[in-house]
Amino acid sequence: MTHVFHRHLHSTPPVAACASGMRIQDAAGRSYLDASGGAAVSALGHGHPDVLAAMHAQIDRLAYAHTSFFTTEVAERLADELVRTAPAGMGHVYLVSGGSEAVEAALKMARQYFVEIGQPQRTHFIARRQSYHGNTLGALAVGGNAWRRAPFAPMLVPATHVAPCYPYREQRAGETPEQYGLRLADELDAAIVAQGADRVIAFVAETVGGATAGVLTPVPGYFNAVRAVCDRHGVLLILDEVMCGMGRTGTLYASEQEDVVPDLVTIAKGLGGGYQPVGAVLAQKKIVDALSQGSGFFQHGHTYLGHPVACAAALAVQTVIRRDGLLAKVRADGLAFGAMLRQALGEHPHVGDIRGRGFFWGIELVADRGSKRPFAAALKVHAAVKQDALARGLLCYPSGGTADGVHGDHVLLAPPFIASRAD
Ligand code: PLP
Repeated sequence: MTHVFHRHLHSTPPVAACASGMRIQDAAGRSYLDASGGAAVSALGHGHPDVLAAMHAQIDRLAYAHTSFFTTEVAERLADELVRTAPAGMGHVYLVSGGSEAVEAALKMARQYFVEIGQPQRTHFIARRQSYHGNTLGALAVGGNAWRRAPFAPMLVPATHVAPCYPYREQRAGETPEQYGLRLADELDAAIVAQGADRVIAFVAETVGGATAGVLTPVPGYFNAVRAVCDRHGVLLILDEVMCGMGRTGTLYASEQEDVVPDLVTIAKGLGGGYQPVGAVLAQKKIVDALSQGSGFFQHGHTYLGHPVACAAALAVQTVIRRDGLLAKVRADGLAFGAMLRQALGEHPHVGDIRGRGFFWGIELVADRGSKRPFAAALKVHAAVKQDALARGLLCYPSGGTADGVHGDHVLLAPPFIASRAD
């Protein structure tokens, strides 16, 4: 009998007992190769000595101080490091405890920005189908997974969902990737106009879609066109890089590869690499200035904002990534990883598509390759693959479960950046 309220109430997962490098061991002594970094979290694998040492040193010095009384040296240093490496114009970092909290804070920051500059009529978000932004109510409202939203739909803030950038299923025959990207930007434009451009707060998107659509990389020019549409209507662009950021795709921010600069960007998972719960929102100067010149504070806050040990872990993870040249490694080995996946699985009768960037790959599972017909939603093939892989000692992350009967199941592979080709 377990008293933990597990995700699934009819089954108890194996007990994780210890972990090192690429492997986790359970209490029964079984070892698992971590090919997904949990849920694209463990950027440096498990038990990294430099991160543990940084956390120990911070705990000995100062384990906690509430941010309404104090700032800490470690939070300041982490914010300095993040601003130094951030997309252009990001001047401030809001430190939280995870991805949903980061998205929630970004949505509220965007709303408060418009309240401060005298546009309180802006109350609406536009986001994308087949997306995931977290499970708190704000994040769920912008998320594009209808199955996750359904029970809570009456409680969600207003949001409209447009098409994701999903070439495998939605790029038309005869349409170039660039034309497809422009068509999607036109759809966003139309959605903003339909809503009333002066009523929209922001467009929210994962730069590379992850947990709901099995790694959707944008087509060239898509985000430039999206940025132009947002600018034309005075709508903010919020990029969610909770999963795809912090080096996962081979650059610190996935948006660097799109040559696009958001107004707000959310990060988490790889920021602390799983060593501590930590996330952040990075904000453009104009947003911080508006709050600063207006009410002078952000009407938000949690008890564990900027937790010193979480900041120490994140700072150590980011330092190791830079010191060990892991972004270049992810770029080079990511190409090899993709080639290995295509060689091993490219002809499989139930693999429709293999796509990704860096150490972030999605495998789309289909009932029929020719027609791209997905498996019946009720079969939950992605979950079955996860269970079977687990039984064989491999951790991979299932993504999908929208139950819309149109889009497929996916398996996500997002290994720690330290993974060798032999792994
Ligand atoms: N945003 C994205 C893009 C995510 O992938 C996730 C989690 O998978 C979240 C937000 C929510 O993060 P968390 O689970 O840390 O709350």
